Amino acid sequence: MAPDTRHPDKLDRAVIFLGPPGAGKGTQAMELAKKYGVPHLSTGDMLREHVSKGTPLGAKAKPIMERGELVPDSLVLQMVAERIERQDCSHGFVFDGFPRTVVQAKYLGELLKHHGYKRPFVIHLVIDPSVLMRRLTGRRTCKVGGEIYNIYERPPKAEGICDKDGGELMQRPDDREEVIGPRLHAYEKQTAPLAAYYRRLGLLHDIDAAKSVDEVGRQVLQSVQSVRGAK
Ligand SMILES: [Zn+2]
Repeated sequence: MAPDTRHPDKLDRAVIFLGPPGAGKGTQAMELAKKYGVPHLSTGDMLREHVSKGTPLGAKAKPIMERGELVPDSLVLQMVAERIERQDCSHGFVFDGFPRTVVQAKYLGELLKHHGYKRPFVIHLVIDPSVLMRRLTGRRTCKVGGEIYNIYERPPKAEGICDKDGGELMQRPDDREEVIGPRLHAYEKQTAPLAAYYRRLGLLHDIDAAKSVDEVGRQVLQSVQSVRGAK
């Protein structure tokens, strides 16, 4: 019998998403967390929350973020360690944007073990660079309501105009081909060792991310359910 994807059982571990910008990592991570009713832990959101609440960690991170620099590992790891100790994480959680490096991954592995969690489940969203390029360069955002379209995959009814509020659609400077090429290259360079690390540990699960958001979501869920309960 196919697993019931409407009412998945409890998640019993950490799920990690790896995938290039534009592969749908954030969307899939959020959806999976919602399906299981566990926290979706985006390190970017967590940092911004610390800053806005003025916590000691936020006070340290704020000037670094304002300079546009990367917050050092020590702060990110401290923040993650503190977060996963909270009660709402006891049945597992989904990471979005963490870990980014092998050093972070090793630390996370120790941390999870220390807290009695099973080994993490790592989802690797795999997508052909040319498909990704189309997806990213085709992206248009509404200037009024922020709705997102794609001129190739999900075009608005009228060219350049938002279906919902008639707002003008624009392309973010970040989504131009000359910016995306180097971005994808930088991602590949940073993530290839991380993916290799998790693959060696037998924790990496490849998912074809060129399919629709819903189809990818189904595959992610099926993949996670296939190991649930296992060590
Ligand atoms: Zn709009």
